[in-house]
Amino acid sequence: MQRSRILGCLSIVALLVSAGADAADKPKLILQITVDQLRGDLPTRYYDRLGEGGFRYLWESGIVYRNAHHAHANTETIVGHATLATGAHPSNHGMVGNLWFDRETGFTTYNVEDPNYRLLTAGASVDANTEIDPTQRAARSDGRSPAALLVTTFSDELRSNTGGEAKVVGVSVKDRGAISMAGHSGTAYWFSKAGGEFVTSNYYLDRYPDWVSTFNSTKPAQQFAGKNWELLHRQENYLFGESDDRAWETDVGGFGRVFPHSYGDGSSPYFTTWLTLSPAGDELVLDFAKQALVEEQLGMDAVTDYLSVSFSSTDYVGHVFGPSSLEAEDNILRLDRTLADLFAFVDREVGLENTLIVLSADHGGPDAPGYLKSLGIPAGYVDPKSWEKESAIARIKASFNIKGELIETYEHPYLYFSADVKNDKQIDQEVLEAAVVEELSRFQGVSLAVSSSALRRGNLPDNALYRSVINNFNSKRSGEVFIVFEPNWFINDFDGLTVASTHGSPWNYDTYVPVVFAGAGVNAQIVDRAVQTVDVAATLSAYMGIKPPSGSVGIPLTEVLDR
Ligand SMILES: [Zn+2]
Repeated sequence: MQRSRILGCLSIVALLVSAGADAADKPKLILQITVDQLRGDLPTRYYDRLGEGGFRYLWESGIVYRNAHHAHANTETIVGHATLATGAHPSNHGMVGNLWFDRETGFTTYNVEDPNYRLLTAGASVDANTEIDPTQRAARSDGRSPAALLVTTFSDELRSNTGGEAKVVGVSVKDRGAISMAGHSGTAYWFSKAGGEFVTSNYYLDRYPDWVSTFNSTKPAQQFAGKNWELLHRQENYLFGESDDRAWETDVGGFGRVFPHSYGDGSSPYFTTWLTLSPAGDELVLDFAKQALVEEQLGMDAVTDYLSVSFSSTDYVGHVFGPSSLEAEDNILRLDRTLADLFAFVDREVGLENTLIVLSADHGGPDAPGYLKSLGIPAGYVDPKSWEKESAIARIKASFNIKGELIETYEHPYLYFSADVKNDKQIDQEVLEAAVVEELSRFQGVSLAVSSSALRRGNLPDNALYRSVINNFNSKRSGEVFIVFEPNWFINDFDGLTVASTHGSPWNYDTYVPVVFAGAGVNAQIVDRAVQTVDVAATLSAYMGIKPPSGSVGIPLTEVLDR
């Protein structure tokens, strides 16, 4: 998939000449929507049952890129968000995974944790229940900031270009979904499961604006107490209407595997977790985003503002029930209503003709192995945490005279060697890495193992798979060996909890995402040309006639620029 860089440069120049500098042409608001785990096929899978004004508005009035993929190998939440925000690959933006092992501190690090800061809400830091989000448990500090993001975002460039006049706000259930998009210079708000309200850290603000305190004082989560997640339509009208109860679905703390899913009376320690793994999480984000738009006066003056809304329910529902489940189907139909609500609100407040909307996803997602096997499609589970005990690894340890542990940890998709092994001057690290790669390549479920020394050396096969591994490689954060599992082979252990499905591979089901631009006078069009998610930030910059983010390698999408 070689793409024309020269053509890309020419189109930027053309844009700068034609539209870039004319303030009257600029939208009042850029609304960037990221739906967590919204695989490219999902918005149109139930097209005949979508309502008006949501996905249909985007698909019928927007520019729809039907062949868009992430070009990095580790398709996880922060990796995809950071790529959409910066136009850079993880090799440059630095977010190589939700977690990585930090050689300097000797601990696993969570991507947006920062001990130099604290949350503004005391007690909101420790999540009530972290079972379905191990990244929260791995974090050692309650503080949050974008410090680990090594390049600028489009939102940073917008702020910078306007001398700080452009307002930038990022909202999500997940801290990493909000922080990544707001960049270094905007303000991020996310949902605290422990507090049942929206929070931020003192990296951004010294105190909450009054409107945030007022919003939280209404106890937004409590509106769901005593309610159920019910189906939107009659069950027989659903594709998965007759298969609600499937063995591979997860019952998280008694939320159950069949409709209706009860939120209980609000007293369960799982209450706010249940909200996030149902459409309620997206509805909370919608309410907060609307409030942010009005109170922060986004899109209300001549300077273009930026609002990022990252919806997380599709991801949690996918993990817990699988993307081909009655729950996931209903979630998409409800997300469609949430989007319609948001667009109608933006239309009233700012005008869709004054708003450039871009929607994409941080990654796709695989179907649950149980579902695949029910159709005769091979699938299975791997467990890298058990590899240390394999006889092949024992043989390597004996031949290199390694007495202690060889493997420090596996933080997907990287195997990190122990500090003792790394510091052992008797060991030729390159030879050891090669030996481990050779053995791991034979393990069941492993498609490809690549050592970091091989990635540094270069001269690897020039194909999409290797390129995606290279795009993910950051020499400070990546481990000694990169592992790619076979298609439809997964780790299913989420910090002790077995879930239906887990993304994070370079295979199509994980890289394939929608990219749609709408509003602000763009002309409806379907585009089947291959594009990459790095192109999104590059396109926004070119559209605004400002410089691309510092690490951006994306090519501006000419269909969006042709106005
Ligand atoms: Zn996920």
